[in-house]
Amino acid sequence: MQICHGKSIFHSIAMGKIRVYSKKEKEIKRMAIHDVARELERYGNVVEVAKEQLKQLHNKALKEVGEADAAIFEIHQMMLEDVDYSDSVKHIITSQRVNVEYAIHETADYFANMFASMKDDYMRGRVADIRDISERLLSILTGQSTVPFEVKEPVILLADDLAPSETVQFDKDEILAFVTVQGSVNSHTAILARTMGIPALVNTQIKLTEELDGMTAIVDGMEGILYLDPDAETVQRMQEKKAEVEEKARQLLDLKGKKDITPDGRKVMLYANIGNPKDLPLVLKNDAQGIGLFRSEFLFMESKSHPTEEEQFCAYKTVAETMAGKRVIIRTLDIGTDKKIDYFNLESEENPALGYRAIRICLTQPDIFKTQLRAILRASVYGNIAIMYPMITSAEEVRQIKGIVEEVKDELHSQKIAYNDIMQGIMIETPAAVMISDELAKEVDFFSIGTNDLTQYTLAIDRQNSRLDAFYDAHHPAVLKMIRMVVENAHKAGIWAGICGELAADMTLTKEFLAMGVDELSVSPEQILPLRKRIREE
Ligand code: PEP
Ligand code: MG
Repeated sequence: MQICHGKSIFHSIAMGKIRVYSKKEKEIKRMAIHDVARELERYGNVVEVAKEQLKQLHNKALKEVGEADAAIFEIHQMMLEDVDYSDSVKHIITSQRVNVEYAIHETADYFANMFASMKDDYMRGRVADIRDISERLLSILTGQSTVPFEVKEPVILLADDLAPSETVQFDKDEILAFVTVQGSVNSHTAILARTMGIPALVNTQIKLTEELDGMTAIVDGMEGILYLDPDAETVQRMQEKKAEVEEKARQLLDLKGKKDITPDGRKVMLYANIGNPKDLPLVLKNDAQGIGLFRSEFLFMESKSHPTEEEQFCAYKTVAETMAGKRVIIRTLDIGTDKKIDYFNLESEENPALGYRAIRICLTQPDIFKTQLRAILRASVYGNIAIMYPMITSAEEVRQIKGIVEEVKDELHSQKIAYNDIMQGIMIETPAAVMISDELAKEVDFFSIGTNDLTQYTLAIDRQNSRLDAFYDAHHPAVLKMIRMVVENAHKAGIWAGICGELAADMTLTKEFLAMGVDELSVSPEQILPLRKRIREE
């Protein structure tokens, strides 16, 4: 048995087999070749193999997910036959006398950049397809699998690191636990694991080797320990501990249907954070009063290209209808920093957390923003939707956003498309927003304090850097004073203020937050009932 320590993200226990997830970057080298004809033949062959793979995928998808979703595999087959694409590959091979892998790589870059710079949404959406077909060709040529991950039974996923865009690909039912060698407790990967209610360890002291694949292991999320090949005594002890944890969770279910009210009669809005309609069963199971933060960017991350208005509308409508009249706060796209999306083609930056992210992208790429606003407004007639904007730093930004919302409403009105006049709020997650919260409060209907970013920007600590986890002190007096100030300014202007950052679930602070007058706490679904218990306690 081997014992490895890590930092725990979610306090639960998992037992099962390990699956090592390794992402081998395809390193494409430019190599001079002598036999051009042979290289052209290799290209012809690889295209045929790829088309055959796509044909089979198309047939499989037709049976499993229907025609609309299967169509993408047909489109990819057509793209492989595209004359411009294949002429470019062939031209690079013949004129530069280089290997086919390099020619495909260069062609993919050329077309992806060309599509990315186009105004038309549809054409921009093709960037991901170009990358996809090129990846397929390269995977066949380099003998790698194109299937990112397939599991037959739920596993403990062990990886060096996981980006949020990778984490969202996994199905909750396939994963017993996440364990990563890198990673910080405040990253979005950690937040995702918490939202999915899955035990997870980051920053784990373990050397990743292929031999770990298939090994039996136990993740103790209470203590932050990974047991590899556990002995019989440990298995017995952990089984008992798991049973205890499950019993406690069962007892908490008695709180379902009970009010979120303090002993002295104060009502609290206890909401859930989600990233996807797939999280809704957990929200219902844990009886949240509403959704306080729907991180809409995860919809974008799961998609291979910009989700269309229709796709977004369906997702927002599903959430609104499922919540059946309970409030659903949709946060507009917040990408950048660790939340990367290939098809946005964002340039890499020296300081991404201080860079081109969230509302800054929306305000400078209004087409993307307006598509999302249209989808949200259209979905608003199916439930109780509110909208929230991330990373606000000035009142001018808010006024600009409200102007765009009015334009979108006018457009819908003239097209005779129904929408509701929904509440608009902002995230308070920059020190600037805190300091002008009196002014901002006059512009919006509510505040939601994002303590994850607010702590990062106030303490000048990168939330992604696990070496700084010990310095990332969300209980810092500066952060707590800021929360107090925001709530006071909100109340002076007659609006409500909540917390949707991870600190909202910190039960050592619940009483302090309530004493400050915090009106809403929004936490991951599994944290709802423990927090309800805390709110109701003396
Ligand atoms: C926050 O910053 O506290 C927040 C809720 O947003 P995110 O974690 O998605 O950046
Ligand atoms: Mg944030």
